[in-house]
Amino acid sequence: MIPGPVEFDPEVNAAVGEATVSHVAPDFIESFGRSLELMRKVWEAPGGQPFILAGSGTLAMDTAACNLIEPGDHALVLSTGYFGERYAELLTRYGARVEVLRSEPGYSIDIGIVEAELKKHDYKLLTFTHVDTSTAVRVDPEPLGRLGREYNVLTILDGVCSVAAEEIYQQEWGIDVVLTASQKAIGVPPGLALLVVSERAMNTWRGRKTKVANYYADWTNWLPIMEAYEDRRASYFGTPAVNLVKGLDISLQQILAEGNAVRFARHKLVADSFRAGLEALNIKQIPVSTALAANTLSAPYYPEGISGAELIAAINNSGVVVAGGLHPDLKSKYFRVGHMGSVSEYDHILDTIGAIEKALAQLGYNFTEGSGREATYKMLNNGSS
Ligand code: PMP
Repeated sequence: MIPGPVEFDPEVNAAVGEATVSHVAPDFIESFGRSLELMRKVWEAPGGQPFILAGSGTLAMDTAACNLIEPGDHALVLSTGYFGERYAELLTRYGARVEVLRSEPGYSIDIGIVEAELKKHDYKLLTFTHVDTSTAVRVDPEPLGRLGREYNVLTILDGVCSVAAEEIYQQEWGIDVVLTASQKAIGVPPGLALLVVSERAMNTWRGRKTKVANYYADWTNWLPIMEAYEDRRASYFGTPAVNLVKGLDISLQQILAEGNAVRFARHKLVADSFRAGLEALNIKQIPVSTALAANTLSAPYYPEGISGAELIAAINNSGVVVAGGLHPDLKSKYFRVGHMGSVSEYDHILDTIGAIEKALAQLGYNFTEGSGREATYKMLNNGSS
């Protein structure tokens, strides 16, 4: 139950475990081509250009930055935690003049403040983390997409902890790049960097005056490869992660068989139910309101007087693996529970709340045993606790 890598569906694992074929084998070309087509559907971006690269989510961030930034360009980073800071650092490597708007942990950034900042410089790029995995805070992308259009600023959504779980309508919302990695809600073992890029951003890249400063990630190298595979032709620039792409093909088909809207609603129900359990146990969380709380993971504080290391170890003893804190200011004060991808409401969520209750009881926390599970169960069944 960590926020990635998550548990993977057996069919996906079977595809990843198949004997590796050539990257120009007909069945691989079909898997690659279909995956590109299916990405547009999962991203809700019928006119977007998908990219599938071998690498992690950070490569997806790097790819968007190096292809869209030229030295001296202004970039605005909205930082709601650890991964916003990473984006700021990354953009400076390509010569961007970076401004960062930061929120306190648990808060988002007021849209009025973003707009006021956009008026200050001729910004080229605005990045934000849809769900920051260090705080479990979710930012609302729609108004940011609107601002991006209004001020002629390209918008990049870091969706590593959101794509295929949180609502995203990339094209309708006018977001220029939505990027993610394979190992979270996409449901494929780690190793794929995935992006869908708007026509507007592709045109900005086409109009560059300088060469892209990153050789591997340069779209000059990869766009012809993506176009070839989508046309069901073999092509080569760097060897694709053949087995992972096979897994991606299966996983995207499963995601679309469930349906985007149904999937978003499932993640919301799971998250609401898990949080209802935490609230019944009187456990506080980093996001300061439900409206700001992600549906892909939760970030509960350790209760007063309970040792974090002991709590995590005791939860682990029940066979449930949760993650420690990540935000540098709060690291030792909270833990993280992922609930995305193929998590099943009853097995995973009730077992996790049960394991937390058992661990709390062992450590002498004062609460009514069973109250967390009951609240979670009620919410799962009725949509209210
Ligand atoms: N952005 C967010 C929001 C993330 O959660 C992560 C990974 N946890 C990353 C970026 C970086 O992805 P990766 O670890 O795959 O490089």
